[in-house]
Amino acid sequence: MKDLRSIEYEDLCALMKELGEKSYRADQIFTAVHSGRADSIDAINVIPKTLKERLKEHLFLSSMTVIKKQSSDDGQTDKLALSLEDGNVIESVVMDYSYGTSLCISSQVGCRMGCRFCASTIDGVARNLSPAEMLLQAVMAERETGKRISRIVIMGMGEPLDNMDNVVSFIKIITHPKGRNMSQRDITLSTCGLVPNIRRLADMKLHVNLALSLHSPNEEVRKNLMPIANAYSIDECLNACDYYFEKTGRRISYEYALFDGINDSISDARQLSRLLKGRNCHVNLIRANDVKETGLKGSTQAAATAFEKELEKNRINVTIRRRMGRTVDGACGQLRRRVIAPGS
Ligand code: SF4
Repeated sequence: MKDLRSIEYEDLCALMKELGEKSYRADQIFTAVHSGRADSIDAINVIPKTLKERLKEHLFLSSMTVIKKQSSDDGQTDKLALSLEDGNVIESVVMDYSYGTSLCISSQVGCRMGCRFCASTIDGVARNLSPAEMLLQAVMAERETGKRISRIVIMGMGEPLDNMDNVVSFIKIITHPKGRNMSQRDITLSTCGLVPNIRRLADMKLHVNLALSLHSPNEEVRKNLMPIANAYSIDECLNACDYYFEKTGRRISYEYALFDGINDSISDARQLSRLLKGRNCHVNLIRANDVKETGLKGSTQAAATAFEKELEKNRINVTIRRRMGRTVDGACGQLRRRVIAPGS
């Protein structure tokens, strides 16, 4: 049995053919499922009962439950803890910006990448999310907040390129004209730097935005923050990102979480500027949250501003990203941990 929501349009067309059904049935089913209204095969009103019964022999529609919602004091951020059908818990974050509402989704239950500043990785990875489970996060976010999601960032729990096939399927489904028809340009995939899969993604020419978590221009500091840096050097990551830009024309974002006394000095900013000089890119600075498990502390506002100014002086495009608020357990994976391990 397969989750109908995880099936790409072309595969649904093939299934209809196999079942001896007219091809327009695939359009009807795909549209009904991805409009977000049909929660069960019985609720696909546009198809006859006999076809529903035949579909149920091969397919099902999974569901997801909101078990906790936290909203920031300014009402601009909602964080959702969501329970999957097998009892695993994931999280999504809905953020309002001047240009619309953005949703940050999880791609795995947990993560095996081991970044020192991240609560999502503490218990390793339990399993990959299916395309349906990624799509459902958007459905649940809209139902729960009443807001229309206009952008998606795959930047929550999990490393998307460690679950690449399902993530690519998710992107194909959510952007399909017969379904939700979201633009690929409104989707950002964030990776800690799985170089071979960045290159694979580039060759697919999907036109989604790519963000690389860089966090330091210094190899040793980066290795200390992110174990994946032991496998792929900064140069290898940047070359893979250059390749992505060449193939897709999409400007790369470099994510840089600022930690007090670790990677936030003016000399770090200068080194970063030298590294990125001449590259068509954007740097997103994030004042990191404190991480009590590892003793890492987020940078001060003054240090973040000085870092930003140094990059600007060196003509690097840069912004300091809005903090997602401590009131909603802002850092990645923290709300989920509160739910699955109260008191942590
Ligand atoms: S920051 Fe991202 S890649 Fe690193 S451990 Fe957390 S979820 Fe995984």
